[in-house]
Amino acid sequence: MRYSIVAKDDYVSKELTKKIKETINGTYDEAKPSIVFSVGGDGTVLDAVRKYIYLLNEITLVAINTGNIGFYTEFLPEELNELIKMLDDKTNIIKYPVLEVEIDGKVDYALNEVVVFVNHHLFEGKIFVDGTELMDIRADGVCISTPSGSTAYNKSLKGAVVDRDLELMQLVLMAPFETIDKRVITPLILNKDREVLIKPQSKYFDISVDRTFVTYQKVDEIKVRVSEKKVKFLRKSTQNFPKRLKEKFISRT
Ligand code: NAP
Ligand code: MN
Repeated sequence: MRYSIVAKDDYVSKELTKKIKETINGTYDEAKPSIVFSVGGDGTVLDAVRKYIYLLNEITLVAINTGNIGFYTEFLPEELNELIKMLDDKTNIIKYPVLEVEIDGKVDYALNEVVVFVNHHLFEGKIFVDGTELMDIRADGVCISTPSGSTAYNKSLKGAVVDRDLELMQLVLMAPFETIDKRVITPLILNKDREVLIKPQSKYFDISVDRTFVTYQKVDEIKVRVSEKKVKFLRKSTQNFPKRLKEKFISRT
């Protein structure tokens, strides 16, 4: 088995990285792994997906939690031996949809969300869905999230929490400044065949894709759609979406 490890930069994650290397019967191959261990929190998972975005078909992610929330990270460090045994069993896999964002023709991918926003001014622009001009935007920004990303930024913006393997995207406006004649209709949940097109009118704004962000001076078009790509995660049979929600949000101390 060819494997690689993406780890958070803290003591616990570094120790676990050493332990994985000692325990696993395989070859460390950073360039072409079939298994990628993510050791950290959800942020580390986002880094791992970004690093291997063009290899997603070939890899399975094994996400071990040494982070804070860890919505993606089903495994605990003490479960290392157990999860190594599970690696051959291809039935223990869950696939999460990814968003494809095209910024003036340049393509990027998001596991959580794409956010277009401005600080200190209103972000202004127009939203089209499948070619129909749907709404004007006057807001801090727009967040378009995946189902698995729905429990992240989207949730703070009062978007709906979505069961994690549905194939759809969700659009919410951030602090919309509503006017009577141009009403907003969000949260808006769209099926996987739709395309959202944002035409910004603001001169400059940021676009963040998961953890990364870039400030843009002028962009004509931002297109967002559900990608053909999916992220494969090793899944724990004792976990499911309702349990995850309860553990991470309801019973959290
Ligand atoms: P961060 O600043 O460390 O905080 C993000 C928090 O959200 C972390 O506690 C992270 O968990 C958790 N998280 C990430 N993805 C999640 C998911 N799908 N479901 C539930 N919780 C999730 O940033 P980060 O760790 O690099 O994560 C980047 C994400 O932060 C972005 O994709 C965005 O969703 C989110 N974010 C949220 C807000 C907000 O809610 N106001 C603002 C900006 C960004 P871990 O502790 O396990 O890493
Ligand atoms: Mn984090």
